[in-house]
Amino acid sequence: MAYEVTKSDEEWRKELTPEEYAVLRQAGTERPFVGEYTDTETTDVYRCRACQAELFKSDTKFESHCGWPSFYAPLAEERVEYIEDLSTGSKRVEVRCANCGSHLGHVFEGEGYGTPTDQRFCINSISMTLEPAE
Ligand SMILES: [Zn+2]
Repeated sequence: MAYEVTKSDEEWRKELTPEEYAVLRQAGTERPFVGEYTDTETTDVYRCRACQAELFKSDTKFESHCGWPSFYAPLAEERVEYIEDLSTGSKRVEVRCANCGSHLGHVFEGEGYGTPTDQRFCINSISMTLEPAE
């Protein structure tokens, strides 16, 4: 997939903190319950921390108690990209920013959370920047 925003590894390293780089560009996962947006209830838009694309809206955020910010849908389907992730032995679906290809988290289905989509987009806080409503 060709991304709108493409940068060399060196450029990403310069722009992102080591912690951001490890998650966004190396598909790392921040520890649960430490991310700055896990329990945030501010309204508005979460942007990709690497390229500023708008990814999620606070009205689809729900309390999953899983330790990471959880949404039941992206802002729009074309904002994210899905990639099959077999790295842990079981099949998971990785979620990336469709604009720059940075890793955001994973999406899980059918967990019974009672949200409109029955999906849980489990997203690292560090992958996003929240822009509160003015
Ligand atoms: Zn991005």
